[in-house]
Amino acid sequence: MGEFELINRYFKRDSSRDDVVLGIGDDGAVTLPRAGTPLVSVLDTLVAGVHYPDELAPYDIGWRAAAVNLSDLAAMAAEPAWMLLGLTLEEPNTQWLQAFAAGLFAAANDHDVALIGGDTTRGTQTVITVQMSGYASPHGFLSRSGAKDGDAVLVSGTIGDAAAGLEIMRAGGDAAYPEIIDRFRRPLARIQLGRTLAGLATAAIDVSDGLFADLERLLSASGLGGTIEFDALALSPELRAYCGRERALTLALGGGDDYELCFTAPEARVAEVMQRAADTGVAVTRIGTVQADPELRCTDGGSPATYRNEGYRHF
Ligand code: ADP
Ligand code: MG
Repeated sequence: MGEFELINRYFKRDSSRDDVVLGIGDDGAVTLPRAGTPLVSVLDTLVAGVHYPDELAPYDIGWRAAAVNLSDLAAMAAEPAWMLLGLTLEEPNTQWLQAFAAGLFAAANDHDVALIGGDTTRGTQTVITVQMSGYASPHGFLSRSGAKDGDAVLVSGTIGDAAAGLEIMRAGGDAAYPEIIDRFRRPLARIQLGRTLAGLATAAIDVSDGLFADLERLLSASGLGGTIEFDALALSPELRAYCGRERALTLALGGGDDYELCFTAPEARVAEVMQRAADTGVAVTRIGTVQADPELRCTDGGSPATYRNEGYRHF
């Protein structure tokens, strides 16, 4: 199968978007963005064996390639629109491509994202890069740097499940924990939540590298610190059943891959945040407070607790 046949067979699809003037097939793609609306651009690369385990199914790899980019757009309160796909493969495998494309389009179609172009090459290992663009909310974009002293720290969904799911998958899987494994296999970007938080949250980040490290990044970008209360962390009953509270806390704080949103909001607007989040079908939990002293501290049952973890780092 030649390069062009591969692209046409697996990646050229009709899109319902009317802002795509020219899609796959030419030297470049042409889009017609809404006049005066800022665009948000993100890009994420997945390297086989580094960003996902070799046993992850090709459908789930395709899903993930789109989902991690959607999650970055969610953290910016953006509305996803288009993506480009850079694909480096050792060899074109029909079954792999079929399943990969199905997963990629399933995640992208959920948010009406059109694949408008890309690049396909042969290489010594599988490397997948997706670049995604979206429209900033009319209420503005969210950034990491807007937190204010005294703001509440909140997080969507439950944390730590994905890290446990990866652990279970690496150990060969365990049919007793399907929800946990799915949290790793099929991350759900919090697009609707992000958009509803525009103009309401003061800062946001998506939890990809571990809650502690990601919240530290948000606070440091804002020039502030804060506290997290362990008792307040949203741990799923399934995660507690799998590994108990102590280990669940470690996975929640340091594990990564949850793709929930961690964000800050003024104390006086926390009730409104909870209501708007509930309207998008997502539970949000208050886990701490922003403080002026530039360090992230932890408490457990109100007493100081120590936690040291760097999150995932490549270098
Ligand atoms: P060029 O040689 O001009 O860079 P290519 O031959 O690389 O063009 O690509 C031909 C067309 O196919 C382009 O429109 C490109 O965007 C698209 N394309 C290539 N690889 C992919 C891919 N993996 N996914 C989606 N579109 C792709
Ligand atoms: Mg060209």
